[in-house]
Amino acid sequence: MKILVINTGSSSIKYQLFEIGEKISVIAVGLVEKIGEKGSVLVQKQGDQLEKKLKKEKGIGTHKDGLQLALSLLTDAKHGVIQQTQEIDGVGHRVVHGGESFQTARRIDEKVLEAIEGNIPLAPLHNPPNILGIKVAMSLFADVPHVAVFDTAFHQTLPPHAFLYAVPYSLYEEQHVRRYGFHGTSHHYVAKQTAVRMQKPLATLNLITLHLGNGASVTAIRGGKSIDTSMGMTPLEGLIMGTRSGDIDPALHFYLMDHVGMNSTEVNALLNKQSGLKGIASTNDMRELIEKHQQGDRQATLAIAMYTYRLRKYIGAYFAILGTVDALVFTGGIGENSLMIRQEVCQGLEGLGMVIDTEQNQNSSKNSFSIHAKTSQVQIFVIPTNEELEIAQETYHLLTQSDQTK
Ligand code: ADP
Repeated sequence: MKILVINTGSSSIKYQLFEIGEKISVIAVGLVEKIGEKGSVLVQKQGDQLEKKLKKEKGIGTHKDGLQLALSLLTDAKHGVIQQTQEIDGVGHRVVHGGESFQTARRIDEKVLEAIEGNIPLAPLHNPPNILGIKVAMSLFADVPHVAVFDTAFHQTLPPHAFLYAVPYSLYEEQHVRRYGFHGTSHHYVAKQTAVRMQKPLATLNLITLHLGNGASVTAIRGGKSIDTSMGMTPLEGLIMGTRSGDIDPALHFYLMDHVGMNSTEVNALLNKQSGLKGIASTNDMRELIEKHQQGDRQATLAIAMYTYRLRKYIGAYFAILGTVDALVFTGGIGENSLMIRQEVCQGLEGLGMVIDTEQNQNSSKNSFSIHAKTSQVQIFVIPTNEELEIAQETYHLLTQSDQTK
């Protein structure tokens, strides 16, 4: 079965074409950037090792232009990877916010689309481009089933005592104010991969998964289900991130507004775009930060200390709510690649039965690997995430299941 995965942003479209059956392979990967801007460009990679690169630089004015151009490359008579659009069996869309409406992936129809639109107030920056991507793709692939896979869905198993904020309950009932959590597709994917590595059913495992990319979040998983996660009603809460502050005293908002003279838009931008690692050490790029730290830059050292300290606090808290932990899992650009951050995070967690093996931690494989010492009660893994593959697989399962019930 050929599944096309689409992730639509405000000025970009990422896409991946998968062949899914007994074996899974990636047929092509593409990125359309700067849609509607100067310098719009499409880059597609294909071939066995995705070694062949095709590039189109031309005025891509709208998302529809972008997706049409992608399609024309995929089906190009000379360079294409498929002969015609009809070969695609299903399209999986990443949707950031499913609110409380969606606990799993769903086949998109009018009602599902309406519910995604209903969640726009909860994700005003993300859901509108996601919806646009769905509509454009549905117009181009009219006869193909489309599936929405939600970033929030995996966390819909959080119990009320974990997802509620201690504010008037009516705000939950009337305004949907609560923790939703994000990166669900990634946490779920690495949890499943961990179960495969441990050769145990996911439903028997307690895990703490750390997704450390530009955005970052940690999830407590009991018996394979998310029971708490650090991002909240929006992705701002929790860990220190590239440009987001993560947890702060909520009264900081009033201080910034009443004493510093900022308005709510400015506070929003400050906390989401100018804070986190960037706010402390002027860059949100962890590689650069580590380099600066090694050269003795004090702000870089401070930012890394704050970053890893916050992570240890969450690991401790999630250990406490889980009671026992089978594995700690690192993923995301930083989690997968930075041995220094992994080492720092695990420093001092021996009391929780988490002991890192310094030598194993030096591994820089692109595949998953374990980094715990023999004496560690908790296994520690580095598992590369693959959100696109997870979306493709969820789309495949939904479509093949519904085929069987026809
Ligand atoms: P996004 O959330 O945008 O998908 P990624 O998961 O790609 O982000 O993670 C980006 C982060 O990973 C950046 O801070 C980058 O510096 C960091 N990163 C990537 N490779 C390394 C590395 N080898 N060492 C340290 N950090 C790395």
